[in-house]
Amino acid sequence: MTLQEQVAIVTGGSRGIGRAICQVLAREGATVIAATRDLDTLRQWIRDEPAVRERIVPTTLDVTNRTLVDRVVDETVERFGRLDILVNNAGVTRDGLIMSMEDDQFDEVINTNLRGAFWTTRAACRHMVRARRGRIINISSVSGVSGNAGQANYSAAKAGLIGMTKAVAKEVAKRGVSCNAVAPGFIETAMTDALPEKLKGQVKAIVPMQRFGLPAEVAAVVAFLAGPGASYITGQVFLVDGGLHT
Ligand code: NAD
Repeated sequence: MTLQEQVAIVTGGSRGIGRAICQVLAREGATVIAATRDLDTLRQWIRDEPAVRERIVPTTLDVTNRTLVDRVVDETVERFGRLDILVNNAGVTRDGLIMSMEDDQFDEVINTNLRGAFWTTRAACRHMVRARRGRIINISSVSGVSGNAGQANYSAAKAGLIGMTKAVAKEVAKRGVSCNAVAPGFIETAMTDALPEKLKGQVKAIVPMQRFGLPAEVAAVVAFLAGPGASYITGQVFLVDGGLHT
């Protein structure tokens, strides 16, 4: 186990990629604060995971609530005495064409995917910089790298997250804190289940690996970035997309 004694916060850990990230970090020995709006779903899957159950701490968090964000980060440090890893995974989509996109569609996606990560990162950095150690891992998207029609809001948020990743990386590197991004392509979760079957088929046809990825395949890269093998990596974006964007 590579993350023994370490403490991680994972936002949006109730399902999908966030769930897989909580599982792998806990399997590697970390205590994982699984911070989610949806505690019921989180508690359900934890019940079926006796191997990691005791290392996962279900915690209520809405990343669009700054007071809650600060509280979850500060209480984690108070309770466990440290914060080693922050994974900004919480995200939403509200797709629409640019000419008909409503302000609230844009705001919700920016506030969750980008501003929420800003708040958690700011709160976490205050502790990590003082401790002179920390790993921040932002879950961006291939949409933030190459753009995606119908996702001006989401692509902007995910591209913003990449910009923030690089800026924060440069700011805190000398204090022993790294900040990297993972940009998944199409991954099998509730977010992509919602896509029309025809579109799913078209996507698979253009992905060189000819399939959607699995949440565990994204989580494996997050575990690597949180672990000892990534000690000299910061400010980078890792695409996990089956070769979609090359
Ligand atoms: P999902 O919809 O299954 O899970 C999203 C998680 O975020 C859920 O746990 C949800 O409760 C949580 N969440 C949403 N708003 C929140 C808020 N305000 N506060 C706290 N938690 C909140 O989606 P997923 O596919 O597992 O996505 C996880 C991350 O990966 C997201 O950031 C998403 O943008 C990104 N991503 C997903 C794909 C994909 O193909 N599934 C591709 C690229 C990037």
